[in-house]
Amino acid sequence: MAKRKKTPRPTKGRCRFCRDKAKAIDYKDLGNLQRLMSSQGALFGRRRSGNCARHQRMVKVAVKRARSVALLPYV
Ligand SMILES: [Zn+2]
Repeated sequence: MAKRKKTPRPTKGRCRFCRDKAKAIDYKDLGNLQRLMSSQGALFGRRRSGNCARHQRMVKVAVKRARSVALLPYV
């Protein structure tokens, strides 16, 4: 049986917003939001983005706000 290679895991938190100690996520910060979504504009899930539940929820709200003011496309 082939050995499964261990994926390197960062010792500190995986969530980028926790690392920055972000209290809120700005919906106008497009560069940051677009790193968490595909080129088509679909938001990545928590597994893919590595965000914690709390910050993923904040990202979701920020993306919805950005969509409503036409900064990001609806998919
Ligand atoms: Zn977090």
